[in-house]
Amino acid sequence: MQVDMKINRPRGTYDLFPEELIKWQWAERIAKETFGEYGFSEVRTPIFEATELFSRSIGKFTDIVEKQMYTFRDKKGRSLTLRPEATASVIRAYLEKGGEQGSERFYYLGPMFRYDRPQKGRFRQFYQIGVELFGAAHPAADCEIIFLLNDLFQKWKLKKFEIQLNSLGCAVCKEKYRKALFDYLKGISLCKECEARKQKNVLRVLDCKNPACQSYIEKAPKVTDYLCDDCSLHFEKVKEYLNLLKVPYNLDSYLVRGLDYYTRTVFEVFLPELGKEIAIAAGGRYDNLIEELGGRKTPAIGFAVGLERLIANLDGPEKKKSPLYLASLGEEKILKETMKLAQRLRRNKIQVIANYEARSLKSQLHQADRLGSKFVLIIGPKELEEGTAILRDMKGSRQTVIKRENLIEKIKEVGKV
Ligand SMILES: [Zn+2]
Ligand SMILES: [Zn+2]
Repeated sequence: MQVDMKINRPRGTYDLFPEELIKWQWAERIAKETFGEYGFSEVRTPIFEATELFSRSIGKFTDIVEKQMYTFRDKKGRSLTLRPEATASVIRAYLEKGGEQGSERFYYLGPMFRYDRPQKGRFRQFYQIGVELFGAAHPAADCEIIFLLNDLFQKWKLKKFEIQLNSLGCAVCKEKYRKALFDYLKGISLCKECEARKQKNVLRVLDCKNPACQSYIEKAPKVTDYLCDDCSLHFEKVKEYLNLLKVPYNLDSYLVRGLDYYTRTVFEVFLPELGKEIAIAAGGRYDNLIEELGGRKTPAIGFAVGLERLIANLDGPEKKKSPLYLASLGEEKILKETMKLAQRLRRNKIQVIANYEARSLKSQLHQADRLGSKFVLIIGPKELEEGTAILRDMKGSRQTVIKRENLIEKIKEVGKV
């Protein structure tokens, strides 16, 4: 059948192949182990949710809700949205299960979706790994979450990263600041988008990357000057505890994050080589969100790490996998012996790739090399007869004849296959 046109993947998405996934799996494994050390357990929620969950939590007048959501109607006319982030989903699941039994620690990993302009490191389907800690009001909890993030980045062996820290205060402080910022911007003419933001959600102006707007933002009132006594004390304590645990951070009074639900502590992680516009991880406290989504008032804090940018800047694991390659030299009798041998090796935890296709030894060795095998096991008619096999060390092409009955021990001895 003639196929007219090749179908390509949708814009803003990507495929991952085994050689790239080595790094992903390594980074994910480190994250899961680390989350476990801090008492976090995994939660999995649907990829789509009722649209209202996101518009109510993230905020109607945010870029995400206004422009970036994948929203559709199902066959019954319900408005559903592919999750643009996971915090609201985790809260929804927690409340639906009847949560609210005090403190809870969850982590998640999975794809998120935003209809954004694709560019380097930014995709429409992207992966986040993150944690949510419910029922913790104490500034020591903020410190622990930031410490955990710092710990993760060290285990991922990212040497140069910077944590930016700010406090947005409670609803009262935020309102006072919103008014002050609005008054400051009143007579100033900003870019078209910011003019709209001014009216609808003035804090979003602080996110503008437009150089003209930036020059005004640099002189704008600082949210930290509008904190009430409680919020101010909370922020002081967070900084004090971070100093105590020797977690380095920088203060950034204009850091507000792109979502409306944050209160008090907010933070972002940057890599100097990517610049200040691209956060690789971000999070903060959201003390009112659980209540706003129908639960009891429950203080909470969390963060998410963007995996694409992380992986692109990782060296990954030092040791790559090296399966033992079983070459097969044609004859049915040899093939059958190879099949049995492959099973025996695998049962002994040796990773094996067996070739069953009739190819020349040369082409099989070539394939073994491509697959990263350090050793190739060859059985020819002579070896089959004598109960032996040839173990070929790909480095230096040395060959040793070994008895098949001693194979497992021998291979474990040369090791690292
Ligand atoms: Zn306050
Ligand atoms: Zn602007």
